[in-house]
Amino acid sequence: MFESLGDRLQGVFDSLRGRGRLTEDEVRAALREVRVALLEADVSLEVARDFTKRVQEKAVGSETLMSLQPDQRVIAIVHDELVELLGGKTAQPSLKNDANVWLLLGLQGAGKTTTAGKLAYKYKAQGRRPLLVAADTQRPAAREQLRVLGKQIGVPVLEVEDHETPARTRARLQEVLRTTYHDLVIVDTAGRLQIDEALMDAVAELKAELSPSETMLVIDAMTGQQSLPVAKTFDERVGVTGLIMTKLDGDARGGAALSARHVTGKPIYFAGMSEKIDGLEAFHPDRIAGRILG
Ligand code: GDP
Repeated sequence: MFESLGDRLQGVFDSLRGRGRLTEDEVRAALREVRVALLEADVSLEVARDFTKRVQEKAVGSETLMSLQPDQRVIAIVHDELVELLGGKTAQPSLKNDANVWLLLGLQGAGKTTTAGKLAYKYKAQGRRPLLVAADTQRPAAREQLRVLGKQIGVPVLEVEDHETPARTRARLQEVLRTTYHDLVIVDTAGRLQIDEALMDAVAELKAELSPSETMLVIDAMTGQQSLPVAKTFDERVGVTGLIMTKLDGDARGGAALSARHVTGKPIYFAGMSEKIDGLEAFHPDRIAGRILG
């Protein structure tokens, strides 16, 4: 991901290199190219415009134009703005000593179940005692999938039953927690191919019962920027505290990952980097910006 964006930006910066001082018009022309590169990477028009406007405001100061290596100044400004666009500092979900409940939301196929397993694996390795809850009442295969994952990583899985009410799920969860100590409960919820009322009602009701400390929306980076209005709907209807971007190892152009923070206002906590159980990494805006700029 981001390869073609990186190549395009490199081309723009190459054209500025070795020119000595730059005129304002030259910077403006280069930033128009940057905007095109962002649009081609599937970044929305609004985000791309906003981005280049901010770079322009910083770059068109005399300091940049008169500096000895103005191209390096422009690259540095683009780098800093990319970091900002991706969310600034690395964000992590809140984690108390005890009684953490994380709810995972998302459309079917986004990678919720896989990510639930990855999170349990990651935090178990850090000394936590996770419990997985397979609360997908729609898709028995999702429960089976989580059961298998749980077994593989040695994390117990509480499976909801068909058509179980959220109140009953809460009662069953409390029962488990009375007898076994767990400091991190990770709940995989139902997904559908598209957003619909029934899905929103079901996850909202489950959230109300479980009062999670974090509600994370799992987004498939391969779906592109069209996944972002979906994210907004989930946030409006259910409330989201952070995002997990999956399939960043794929060859999508990167628009969703680049725009998600700006469009939803939510931090990206993690990036899915493979299908494997250890393929989940903290999302570091500065490293990603560095990777894009090569
Ligand atoms: P769910 O319907 O949201 O629970 O989605 P699943 O967890 O079943 O994942 C759907 C597909 O995406 C599966 O084939 C996963 O292996 C795959 N997947 C999930 N996360 C990633 C990722 O970060 N990278 C890659 N390459 N594949 C992923």
